[in-house]
Amino acid sequence: MTNSVMQTYAPADVVFDKGEGVYLFAENQKRYLDFGAGVAVTCLGHAHPHLVAALTEQAKKLWHSSNLYKIKGQERFARRLADHTFGDVVFSCNSGAEANECAIKIARKHFAAKGSERHRILTFKGAFHGRTMATLSAGKQAKHCEGFGPMLDGFDQVDYNDLEAAKAAITDQTAAILVEPIQGEGGLRPAEDAFLKGLRSICDEAGILLMFDEVQTGVGRTGKLFAYEHSGVTPDVMALAKGIGGGFPVGACIATADAASGMLPGTHGSTFGGNPLAMSVTNAVLDVVTKEGFLDHVTKMGDLFKSRLQDVVAAHGNVVKGVRGKGLMLALQCVVPNGELVAKCFENGLLAVPAGDNVMRLLPPLIVREEHIEAAIAILMRTCTELSE
Ligand code: PLP
Repeated sequence: MTNSVMQTYAPADVVFDKGEGVYLFAENQKRYLDFGAGVAVTCLGHAHPHLVAALTEQAKKLWHSSNLYKIKGQERFARRLADHTFGDVVFSCNSGAEANECAIKIARKHFAAKGSERHRILTFKGAFHGRTMATLSAGKQAKHCEGFGPMLDGFDQVDYNDLEAAKAAITDQTAAILVEPIQGEGGLRPAEDAFLKGLRSICDEAGILLMFDEVQTGVGRTGKLFAYEHSGVTPDVMALAKGIGGGFPVGACIATADAASGMLPGTHGSTFGGNPLAMSVTNAVLDVVTKEGFLDHVTKMGDLFKSRLQDVVAAHGNVVKGVRGKGLMLALQCVVPNGELVAKCFENGLLAVPAGDNVMRLLPPLIVREEHIEAAIAILMRTCTELSE
């Protein structure tokens, strides 16, 4: 059959047709341990009973009504996110790029509404904020931008974790700083606490907005509900997606009332954003991840997995040379090309995801248990042995 899918992806030659907890099953019945979680999306694993029940119940009642009318599930979701964060207001959308688009628009409008010229946004090398024109322009990665120029004006960029460079890049045109607390696609590179604290001070001194892209780090992935909680630094705006829908395509942008003061009726919108079907799932995800003990489990499993990955490094230093990350957002730094390790793990029944800086990301569902971690370690040990032969 001719493949009519636009050739923007190069998928592995496998079709999954069933998921259960931490496992995916291919059409040929082969079982895979899913430590990619659809790139940090299926935070509660596959077919979580609470999510399935919420989605199917809502599906029988009402899928979509539009933002022309009030949506109770959206109001509840926004209230709950506000209660669990620094934020006061939430815009619901459909993806991470859209959540960042909203953040960018919030920053520009915040100042425009005050008659200020500030509109530029400072980002960091290695960042990934999405594939729309504004988020590509924000990320500035050559491999993503090539052929899509001209990029949007209004984005400046300096080295990640370089506070002096960030300070020097702020002008009277700067409206905001946009940063990932841990760069995901960039290779699981963590921001230093002092860097994030310094960025907060820069923003406070200049009277500009600090915006965190927690599309990948959010919703319990690092062992806190949101990664900003580790550093004690509170942003003014935060973009979320991936895990917040557990596999349903949603995004959210959370802001303080002051940051979003320019976002009045008619300034932004989305046909699908926050629709009843999507909100049944986001609220169900929140039910589980905010349950007492859930994040302790993530931290416990994360610590165990990290120490066991260090055992893999100790045993196979010719294949992998280090471990980094927090909670269940972990990565092996590879000696061999990361694509080779990912492909060999795949052959052996373990799904993982490559990222920049030659790392292989391991992002298991947050419901992972010790026996799954041990199963993954056994596959990793075997895979490294095979790659050494
Ligand atoms: N921001 C970060 C930190 C991400 O990791 C991603 C996706 O990998 C995005 C934004 C873009 O999200 P989406 O693909 O849902 O548009």
